[in-house]
Parts: sequence; C-alpha cells; structure tokens
Amino acid sequence: MTALLEAEGLVRVYQTRTGLFGRAIPVRAVNGVSLSVRPGETLGIVGESGSGKSTLGRMLLGVDPAEAGTVRFEGEAMPVFGTPAWRRLRARMQMVHQDPLGALDRRLTIARQIREPLDIHDIGPRAGRDGRVATLMEQVGLRPDQAGRYPHELSGGQRQRVVIARALASEPALLVCDEPVSALDVSIQAQVVNLLADLQAEKGLGMVFISHDLKVVRNIAERVAVMYLGEIVEEGPVDAVFGAPQHPYTRALVSSVPEPGRRLDGRQILKGEPPNPAARPAGCAFHPRCPHAEPRCAATAPALRPSAPSRRAACHLLPAAQKIAA
Ligand code: SF4
Ligand code: MG
Repeated sequence: MTALLEAEGLVRVYQTRTGLFGRAIPVRAVNGVSLSVRPGETLGIVGESGSGKSTLGRMLLGVDPAEAGTVRFEGEAMPVFGTPAWRRLRARMQMVHQDPLGALDRRLTIARQIREPLDIHDIGPRAGRDGRVATLMEQVGLRPDQAGRYPHELSGGQRQRVVIARALASEPALLVCDEPVSALDVSIQAQVVNLLADLQAEKGLGMVFISHDLKVVRNIAERVAVMYLGEIVEEGPVDAVFGAPQHPYTRALVSSVPEPGRRLDGRQILKGEPPNPAARPAGCAFHPRCPHAEPRCAATAPALRPSAPSRRAACHLLPAAQKIAA
C-alpha cells in the first residue's frame, strides 16, 4: 500500500545565539530523518525534550521548512508553506498541540471555531454546516449546550476536545498530535487518549503521536520511532521496541518508566547531560551517555539499518542485517 506520509532525509537547522559574544551557532534540530505512515496507522514518536520531536512534527506538515530532504503526502511533494497549494492540502492534514487554550481564539464561541475550517475550505453546503458542527461536538463528547461557550468557560480537557473537533472538521487523512495530553490533568489524560484512539480507528486516520510518555504511546501507537538529538535511533512495532529494545538509549528510556513491582535499583538511569542540540557529540550522538560505548562510537556515527523484521536501529553493537535475515 502506498504511504500516506513519507519523509526522506529531513534536516532542519536553526541559528541560535549562544555564548559570550552571541555568535550564531547552527543547531541541527532534525538530522536526516526518514519515516513513513500508512493510511490508518498510528506512528508514535518518543524521546526526551530537545530530541527534535516537535520540529519534526511541524516539518511533516510542511509548516517548518526543511534544509534538506523531502516530504510526500498522499503521493505528492509537500507544497511550500503558505502557498494556495499548501492551504488546500491543509484540510487533509491537521495538528493537535499540547496547549488547547493557545490554539483557540478566546473571543469566539467554540461552535464558531469548530465551524471555521468548514468555511475556510468551503466544505459541504453552507446550510448543513451547523449540523456538522453539532455532529462533531457529539463525536468528541461535548454537550450541545456548550456550543455557545467561550474557551475560558471550559475545562482543559473540554478545550482539547474542541481542538480535536476542529481538527476533524475538514475530514483530514492525517493528524499530527504533539503532546496532546501532557498539559491536562492526569485524571483526564486517558479519556482524551481514548477519544483520539477511537476517532482514529473510526475514521481510518493516519496519526503521528508525539509524546515523551512511553505508556501513552504504547497504548495508542502501532509503531514507534525513538528520537535522540534529531535522529531516529530505533523504530519498529511498539510492543517489540518497548518489550525488547535494541538500542541502548531505548533500553534506558524504557527502564526509566516506573513499574509497580520493579525495584528502583533494577532501573538503568540515564547518566550524563540531557541532550543539547547546540553541542552535538561526534560519532554516535548518544556515546557520552551510553554504558556500552566503545572507541569507534566516538569516531563514527552508526547508520539506522534493519535490525530485525520490521525493525530498524542505529548502533554499532547490533548484529549485521544479513545475520538477522538468515
Ligand atoms: Fe552506544 Fe556505541 Fe551503540 Fe552508540 S553506537 S548506542 S555509543 S554502543
Ligand atoms: Mg516538544
């Protein structure tokens, strides 16, 4: 089946001013990422903050420009951000952010905001749009009497439901969710994740689900990509990757998730500095923190390559792909 979304060799470089003299330093936020999402599939993207997840999410929608690499959506090259061609495509790909209040207009009722994409993209007959808004509200679990409310009159969870309803209004094929529940109360995070999972299954949406929360990703995603300093270091089916991680970084991430019954001293704590894209180590970017680092790790970057059926990983210590295939 053709991919819904296909990214090849994506690179994003920012200029940041740091240091005593405020010199501009190029920072590689995303460093050669390739991935694909099939129609109706959920790909999780995990990694610590600073790993480039959010930048990658924006690049997948063409919002952040790529210095190098390509994105193809439904078989076509992503048009340049802001052009009429990009705006037309925008109806087919939507984003849900961490902060629903920031994503909503405080001065407009929620019904107006859910309706907005229908008007912008001129979707369906005008006369039917209020009815469509009512259906969308029902689908995300909002009550009809909330239609005339303003964002500040709703709870955080309800506001995120409004954002989701608005994202679904234009019947997208792809939804990119960037930490969609991490700003919400823990008690309602599961509700919103379940809502996204239900809507994804019901509408056959392709979804990219970005989160630092491994448990949430394990619940919602079929495949997962693990990012470290702008690169995918491991990728594969979510149960395989989290159940038997191959990359030392994934192993450390997985073992840092508290589990009832597992003693703290059994955990492999990530040592060293958290990843800083402005000071990227040579060779394998993870080598200063890796418990298995060898001299060659500081010299040569390992390629992301097939490491098991349907899996890829980037580590010198993994057996060669030929051996796995045999
Ligand atoms: Fe660790 Fe070397 Fe593998 Fe990098 S390549 S993860 S430093 S063992
Ligand atoms: Mg982020």
